[in-house]
Amino acid sequence: MGLGDRHQKKDVEAALKRAERAGLKVTHDKNRHRWGWVICCPCNDFVKVHGTPQSQGNEANKIDRFTESHRNCA
Ligand SMILES: [Zn+2]
Repeated sequence: MGLGDRHQKKDVEAALKRAERAGLKVTHDKNRHRWGWVICCPCNDFVKVHGTPQSQGNEANKIDRFTESHRNCA
């Protein structure tokens, strides 16, 4: 991700960084409500990232669960 692609919520941004470090692909759509996607290329699974989550903690946990379940796909 480039510098302009940071998520405005720091807990979500931290979870996205963990996903990237685990080898997952993070894409940014610049859609107001849907920030983007975290994608596991080997198995083609993905999770949506909200741009304006009601709870940034819950959104970060959702991303972390996805990261953990796909950490060993590659
Ligand atoms: Zn996977």
